[in-house]
Amino acid sequence: MNKTIALITGASKGIGYEVARQLGQQGITVLLSARTSAAAEEAAAQLREQGIDAVGVELEVTDSAHIAALAKQIGEQYGKLDVLVNNAGIWAETAGAENAFETTFTVNTFAPYHITEALLPLLLKSEAGRIVNQSSALGSIQFQLSNELAQRIATPAYAASKAALNMLTVYWANKYKDTPLKINTVHPGLVKTRMGGDKAELTPEEGAKTAVRYATLPADGPTGGFFYMEDRLPW
Ligand code: NDP
Repeated sequence: MNKTIALITGASKGIGYEVARQLGQQGITVLLSARTSAAAEEAAAQLREQGIDAVGVELEVTDSAHIAALAKQIGEQYGKLDVLVNNAGIWAETAGAENAFETTFTVNTFAPYHITEALLPLLLKSEAGRIVNQSSALGSIQFQLSNELAQRIATPAYAASKAALNMLTVYWANKYKDTPLKINTVHPGLVKTRMGGDKAELTPEEGAKTAVRYATLPADGPTGGFFYMEDRLPW
């Protein structure tokens, strides 16, 4: 049987966990990745209890050895990858981390770059490869120019890391435009998670919907776009 295989990064909680759950509900085999194998297995076990075909896999997204080992494992086990959701992300500025700029770029930009590059050969073996980069409206330059809230939030490392992720999305979409691969970047909305806080408007279930939509696009769907639900966002 030709099963559809999806890898979601940073899926131990929040939006990533919900993306894994909703893709799993569609009959997709989900490789639920987390920083440690224990965290990944715990979350995958919860999904299996709901009848979802979930496999916990270890992926500290900044660890090149983890990335290489996972690419090898997926290649040996499945021979292809159909969906990659680059979801893991941090907002180090709010956590007051030292070297917030470097830390933020390492997780939000360099990691999805290296993960995607490592997995592209497997995604190109899929008949309908899909990559979704979990970005943010704060990564929109137009939003930063025109929106008072974005200006007030003043989070240069986070915003620049997501703007760079958006640029990578367009780079890959152009590079692979003559293949079945579709690569888009999305804003999930303001979502009640550890990052989004209690006052955010959407539940994780609602916040996962945009990534799920672009992870399961039909063959005539868009590539190289920035979206919230069906709406295109300005770069
Ligand atoms: P959470 O903080 O709730 O979850 C983030 C997830 O990413 C966790 O599973 C976390 O794992 C994982 N993660 C972080 N760093 C690493 C790492 N180095 N290696 C592996 N996993 C890692 O955030 P959200 O669910 O809210 O955010 C998900 C994505 O959505 C992010 O990219 C974020 O920027 C984006 N987003 C969120 C918004 C919101 O309103 N919530 C708005 C706009 C964008 P661990 O628990 O081990 O730290």
